[in-house]
Amino acid sequence: MEIKYVSTTCPYCGTGCGFNLVVRDGRVFDVGHWQRAPVNGGKLCPKGRYAHEFINSSDRLTKPLIKKDGKFVEATWDEAYDLIAEKFRSYKPAEMACLSSARTSNEENYLMQKFARVALKTPNIDHCARLCHSSTVAGLAAVFGSGAMTNSIKDIGESKCIFVLGSNTFEQHPLIARSIVRAKQNGGKVIVADPRYTPTARQADLYMPFVSGTDVAILNGLMQEIIKSGREDKEFIQKRTKDFENLKEVVMKEDYSLENVSKTSGIPAESLKQAAEWIATADVAALIYSMGITQHTTGVDNVKSTANLMMLTGNLGKPGAGVNPLRGQNNVQGACDMGALPNVYSGYQKVTDEPAQKKMKEMWGVDELAEGRVGYTVTEMINILADRPGELKAMYIMGENPMLSDPDIQHAEEGLRNLEFLVVQDIFMTETAELADVVLPAACYAEKDGTQTNTERRVQRWRKAQDPPGEAKPDWQILCELGSKMGYPEQFAFESPEAVFNEIAAVTPSYHGMSYPRLDPDGLHWPCPTEEHPGTAILHRETFAMPDGLGVFSPIEWKPAAEVPDAEYPFVLTTGRTIWQWHTGTMTRRSWSLEKEAPIGWIEINTEDAEALGITDDEVVRASTRRGSVDIPAKVTDEIIKGVMFIPFHYKEHPANKLTHNALDPIAKIPEFKACAVKVEKI
Ligand code: SF4
Repeated sequence: MEIKYVSTTCPYCGTGCGFNLVVRDGRVFDVGHWQRAPVNGGKLCPKGRYAHEFINSSDRLTKPLIKKDGKFVEATWDEAYDLIAEKFRSYKPAEMACLSSARTSNEENYLMQKFARVALKTPNIDHCARLCHSSTVAGLAAVFGSGAMTNSIKDIGESKCIFVLGSNTFEQHPLIARSIVRAKQNGGKVIVADPRYTPTARQADLYMPFVSGTDVAILNGLMQEIIKSGREDKEFIQKRTKDFENLKEVVMKEDYSLENVSKTSGIPAESLKQAAEWIATADVAALIYSMGITQHTTGVDNVKSTANLMMLTGNLGKPGAGVNPLRGQNNVQGACDMGALPNVYSGYQKVTDEPAQKKMKEMWGVDELAEGRVGYTVTEMINILADRPGELKAMYIMGENPMLSDPDIQHAEEGLRNLEFLVVQDIFMTETAELADVVLPAACYAEKDGTQTNTERRVQRWRKAQDPPGEAKPDWQILCELGSKMGYPEQFAFESPEAVFNEIAAVTPSYHGMSYPRLDPDGLHWPCPTEEHPGTAILHRETFAMPDGLGVFSPIEWKPAAEVPDAEYPFVLTTGRTIWQWHTGTMTRRSWSLEKEAPIGWIEINTEDAEALGITDDEVVRASTRRGSVDIPAKVTDEIIKGVMFIPFHYKEHPANKLTHNALDPIAKIPEFKACAVKVEKI
């Protein structure tokens, strides 16, 4: 019997914890602690601890499948590739679209966008960051010139005041929550604003329950109070920012007095006053947010407002400070960095920028690249498929499950069924794969080498621990073989993920100084522009990434959600996750240690609301919105604010996204998962 330990990076959240996969006779059978792992020092949350359990599930996809007469039949790789290449060649570039995946490696995301742009010549390439943090990228880039977390995870532990807004850090990024605990132990104050009394809220020195969708009003109110009390950082504002007067004009309006913000948000005025004082007077303060901020039709506005608050108080460019968006999927930062987006190549080089186009054409050895056009986002693709049938005809989806993760999934299904040809590449037969014409079996994280970039911009290694099951192959290899089949053998002639990474480093300024040897063992934070550069844990130390180096204050007025409660649908519905499950459950629901803890969905209803509706705990109720209905067990609790209800979105048996609204932020095109109008009835 041979036992070996393979150090790699967790496939779940954006924290990027390291662990050892324990391999016996060539097969992974456990996760072991990797004491010197750079982010987590050997500690793991339950998902990481049990990240081996789904790997050898008996229902892994092991052979290519082609649908014939409505049924999947096994095929050879050559048969599948020939069919895909023949079909893709039959469509015009504008009729095709690709979805990449934040669950796959940097190398695979880079290859997917290269495949779309080189082999299909389509600009329509996007991935699931559109659904979680596209508003972060757009919002922070507009204010700071860079759309990423400004500080490091370790840094958060040095803060003297942490404002957590729209993030259930203790459940969703548990190993980042350890930095919050460290800050508390060092005397730092913690403020949590959330409609639910979450495990994170329980750690707060000040908890502020609020009505989902009122974030801008709250942030403007805090800023007004800070300015009124003369506690803004005048020196920072004067030296490092511009447009402060424009900000003042808006935030000083009567609408944003503490009394009025209290009426809008439900937070007592005294709590807002206390929060403003702590944030403004702390030696150093950090703001943490997640999807509670981003998944709104005002997502970009919300993000810009967080940046306004931290610039106002001078909390940027130093340890323990910053605007810290916590990314959801393990590699959502990397998938964005790699250009799996419709408007940028890797390193956020704009597709419309002629020098960037020229550079990519030279590197890729082609004369044409999707005409330098900005393509469709995921949400636009789905809307076009459903509402303008025939405009998009073929789609290639890698490692995404929009049939459970997209808003208003009836609408998404209608759209996907309108496709003439759908290829899905995944590790399991997902709800989306069921609709495909061809399904390609992919290797999971434990079966391939590669890199991923965590929420703090740290690029780290994945290492292969076992062979993929049956004939499954790593996504990077499938993309290379398909690219070659499409007539681009030289462009896709990579023999290893490391060779792909070397091309990434060559064309991506922020990754330029990185290489596999340099990533061992601690990884590197981008930007890392040269081979000698140590990486950049804290952004914006001296200047912002703007042409004039100044951060831009953005005056933002509060706007209500696209759909607000009314007489027919009198409550606000918000959605989220539990610590035991992950997104659409393809991995965690096959992990018995996790599934047994949270096997079914539920709807959280405030005790007073439940009493008024005559609903008791555990009773199955009907939740309905203008999109559809879900019958689901009620969890009656005081741990959610009156008037708001919550459903986790993991469960196909109780699909929260049958109810959610597909209204989009006008800039980031992110859907409003966090607020729509709902009614709940006894059945
Ligand atoms: Fe994995 Fe995130 Fe848990 Fe770390 S905190 S073990 S990265 S799921």
